[in-house]
Amino acid sequence: MTFRERRYDHHAGPKPLAACWPDIPMNPPARIVTEPMPFERERREMIDVQLRRRGIREERVLEAMFRVPRHEFVPPAYQKASYDDRPLPIGQTETISQPYIVAAMTLAARVAPGDKALEVGTGSGYQTAILAYLGAKVWTIERNPGLADSARERLKRLGFNGLEVICGDGSEGLSAAAPYQIILVTAAAPEVPPALLGQLADGGRMVIPVGDLIHQDLLLIFKHDQQIAQRMLDPCQFVPLIGKQGWPEREGWGR
Ligand code: SAH
Repeated sequence: MTFRERRYDHHAGPKPLAACWPDIPMNPPARIVTEPMPFERERREMIDVQLRRRGIREERVLEAMFRVPRHEFVPPAYQKASYDDRPLPIGQTETISQPYIVAAMTLAARVAPGDKALEVGTGSGYQTAILAYLGAKVWTIERNPGLADSARERLKRLGFNGLEVICGDGSEGLSAAAPYQIILVTAAAPEVPPALLGQLADGGRMVIPVGDLIHQDLLLIFKHDQQIAQRMLDPCQFVPLIGKQGWPEREGWGR
């Protein structure tokens, strides 16, 4: 395997997905499209100020970010801040990622309808919902049983389908449904878990934060003809990936 590193140029941006696959159908839950839209002004501002201006210009990704009701994924105490430019607490130590990071990971993954996606770190289920909206078939793994149960219930209540929420250690992936065209890891790993690399399909994309417990780089990893290439997207800060191929369990790391 060879590794090639290149910096990601946000301004040039990747080729818009719509230009590669025109008229791709999405998979929005009916009630999300037909019901009145709470927080409409905040959603529009999030799209324009936090996403478009920072280089997220793929219309399908913007549409999913606009339509998926982020306020349904945050605890009631934080609902007013749902569309703010920051992560928010969803548990003792866990967070729902900042909207820009969710959009950047989704854009980099180049989601096409029917893609099989593995997400490690379900949390609130927000990123899962964005992937499902774009038509991916999603397997998402969460180690905290309380969060896994509430994400499963929430996604069902909102009408998302084509996804499965599993409770367990996702650092080893999920071999039962492998290989995946997309692997998104939404918790910080000390290094790319070899199990996940092994479960990435040929032509697949993995997006994963790698670094120490405080600072990480968001990496985009491609597999092509069994060769691996990677590119740095953004500096970032995620909660730790705790598990066999992540960080060891420690006191106070929620559960
Ligand atoms: N994608 C989430 C944000 C997740 S925060 C969202 O949109 O809301 C990171 C999550 O990863 C936390 O809920 C944490 O419990 C979970 N996590 C950490 N290590 C894990 C592991 N080995 N397997 C599965 N989930 C893990």
